[in-house]
Amino acid sequence: MIYLDNAATTPMFEGAAEEYKKYACELFYNPSAGYGEAIKISRLLQEARRAVLDRLGATKGDIIFTSGATESNNLAIQGSERGGKWEYVFSAGEHPSVNNVAKSLQQKGCIVHFIPLNEDGQVDYLALEKVLNEKTRLISVIHVSNETGAINDIARISMLRDRLSPKALIHVDGVQAFCKIPFSIDRLGIDLYTISSHKFHGPKGVGALYVRNKGGLKNIVFGGGQEGGLRSGTENVAGIMAMKWAVEHTCVQENFEKVSLLKASFLSGLKLDENISVIDIGSPYILSLSFKNVKGETLMRAVENEVILGMGSACSTKQAGNRILEQLISRDKVISSVRVSFNANLSVDEVKRAGEIINREYYKLVEKI
Ligand code: PMP
Repeated sequence: MIYLDNAATTPMFEGAAEEYKKYACELFYNPSAGYGEAIKISRLLQEARRAVLDRLGATKGDIIFTSGATESNNLAIQGSERGGKWEYVFSAGEHPSVNNVAKSLQQKGCIVHFIPLNEDGQVDYLALEKVLNEKTRLISVIHVSNETGAINDIARISMLRDRLSPKALIHVDGVQAFCKIPFSIDRLGIDLYTISSHKFHGPKGVGALYVRNKGGLKNIVFGGGQEGGLRSGTENVAGIMAMKWAVEHTCVQENFEKVSLLKASFLSGLKLDENISVIDIGSPYILSLSFKNVKGETLMRAVENEVILGMGSACSTKQAGNRILEQLISRDKVISSVRVSFNANLSVDEVKRAGEIINREYYKLVEKI
């Protein structure tokens, strides 16, 4: 079975799982306690923060550990909210864990702008430029789209911010970018950056929010004051240490090149034609495919004994339609879409075979129509 739904989640590295066990069973102390063993753990958490900062290319700022990207996105947005006189700007390509927080701000009476996507699946920079002003408090844009792989030009957005809304914070949902595409956060001018461990071979239920300036953020959870008061609750030490292991054992540039080869090999097996089309507009890790006259779900079920495909954001599969793809392709094509997402441990031969299997099963379904 060839697993091609790595944008939904990835298998945990064995080394990360061993690290998890060590900190769950042997070095299980509460890092907030005052005795030596606990203080050692709290120091290890500092090292884990440093490892994440280094991988982000951040020379300043802090890491707040959370339960994953959904929580990080909520903290970034709700924690930046400063009431009615400010304006909040979101791309129309955001994951539900951003989009639904944006909608909740709107329901509270805040002025919220949703910026449509351009034909490349990126935020429409000209439309963005038009809404930015002195009252903009937050600009939230996904780094790599979990639906299409489109990569937003964050440096360009940052330049717009500096010119038009110098008081605005930039929040980036980096779930599909961190440990996958090479970048340096210092150069992009980002204030808040969301990551999730299970997307890069760490455990589920742990993630982080990078915060350039903690003074700009307020807490949304009240309690014992852990994580500098921004995220109360005993830290998930085992999860954080396993995430650290995954961060330190990922070669981003090497993997990026390898996954680019995997993508090419997969497409050579799949064989695009007048019935099979692809959205291939950014990160090599994610492709969106459409198969004429066959529902994406039907194809996914037809191949699942041999190949596991995705159906877009796992968090939104229960909702009808696809808010993001519908901005780029026709409704018919959206219904006949599946998502393919790779990880660097796959081989060129197996992904080529996956492409061939999908082609074969698709044409079997076409014959039955
Ligand atoms: N943002 C993006 C872009 C994602 O792909 C996901 C996972 N589907 C999330 C946020 C939510 O991540 P988590 O599962 O860590 O809450």
